[in-house]
Amino acid sequence: MERALLDELEQWRSHGVEGHFRGKMPWMPYHQFLSEQTAHIAGAKPEEVVVMNTLTTNLHLMMVSFYRPQGSRFKIIMEAGAFPSDQYAVESQVRYHGLDPATAIVEIAPRAGEDTLRTEDIVRRIEEEGPSTALVMFGGVNYYTGQFFDLPAIVEAGHRAGALVGFDLAHAAGNLPLQLHDWGADFAVWCSYKYLNSGPGGPGGVFVHERHGANPDLPRFAGWWGYDEGSRFLMQKGFRPMQGAAGWQLSNAQIFSFAAHKVSLDLFMEAGMKNLREKSLKLTAYLEFIIADLNSRGHHYKIITPNDPAQRGCQLSLQTGPDGKKLFDHLTQHGFICDWREPDVIRLAPVPMYNRFEEVWELGRCVIKEIKTAYGKINIDLPQAVERFATDSVEHEKSLSLW
Ligand SMILES: *Cc1c(COP(=O)(O)O)cnc(C)c1O
Repeated sequence: MERALLDELEQWRSHGVEGHFRGKMPWMPYHQFLSEQTAHIAGAKPEEVVVMNTLTTNLHLMMVSFYRPQGSRFKIIMEAGAFPSDQYAVESQVRYHGLDPATAIVEIAPRAGEDTLRTEDIVRRIEEEGPSTALVMFGGVNYYTGQFFDLPAIVEAGHRAGALVGFDLAHAAGNLPLQLHDWGADFAVWCSYKYLNSGPGGPGGVFVHERHGANPDLPRFAGWWGYDEGSRFLMQKGFRPMQGAAGWQLSNAQIFSFAAHKVSLDLFMEAGMKNLREKSLKLTAYLEFIIADLNSRGHHYKIITPNDPAQRGCQLSLQTGPDGKKLFDHLTQHGFICDWREPDVIRLAPVPMYNRFEEVWELGRCVIKEIKTAYGKINIDLPQAVERFATDSVEHEKSLSLW
């Protein structure tokens, strides 16, 4: 990644503004150098995706085109407890159209006593709202619970209701294999600095299904970089969009953050989402096993993430009880980068790209140490079963071809 950034500095030093046209990767068409890999991540055709801006900006741009309330069809259906930025974006879009968020936003919450949503409840709610729904706007993976929603079922229900369907895939892109084209989603947005490892403030990704990308009359907020490439520099009046998702670009690419993103995308391409998912299923199952084992020794970390592997990526959210923050600090001090969410949740995400089975095992050990310190009277030792499983898995890891 450092090399890629230095290359761009060198390009700038040697060519100045001519870097737009010269060198291995001229800046002018730079976004195209990321299309194939981005399409792989999204399960899309290369023309259906583009890298630009950042997530929330892109969500607004997509909603300008795809949230077009008309008469009695004006509602947006979303999951309750969506990431705050999505809530604010949706709320402000609703107000922008002169509507009241209290009536225009429908939030679907888990049943009483449950932590996650049932697909049947999502589908039923969309059916109930039916003709009043303009847009179904769901997360792919809920950032808090780690639940991966049944996206094709949501697309189907939304379309049956006559609505458009868009997704925020911030926690799904690079975490789970996606098939946005085949699922028929209308649009999707995601960021590149979570599972896609592209560094702070990295650029966002956008998917627009080809049935919309081919429609130049679709209303949008336009900029010169979305203008038809062949005649962009004639600088004429009257916006003529590029075909595909590229027609939503506003500005020329931020080369340094795009360069970092490209390095990461190339790694995903090389590893392949299918292989990563295969390892991820095992790695997260192993973490689940370690936690279950801790619980069987008298502890009570509740995993609020669904235990059905099809309904989650690599993240497990642990409800820790009152001593959770101490445990979190202990883990952080020992080099485990996890995430604390108020009031008592630790998010753990063994990432298949770079985490190893052994590290999950070490995390288990680290938790035990903390428990021993905190509750010295309880004698807990890493049980043999855990050791055995760990050894097996390490061996298994070695046998995976590349990953
Ligand atoms: C991280 C995240 C965001 C933040 O997006 P930025 O605009 O890139 O800061 C928005 N939505 C979700 C679901 C996220 O997880």
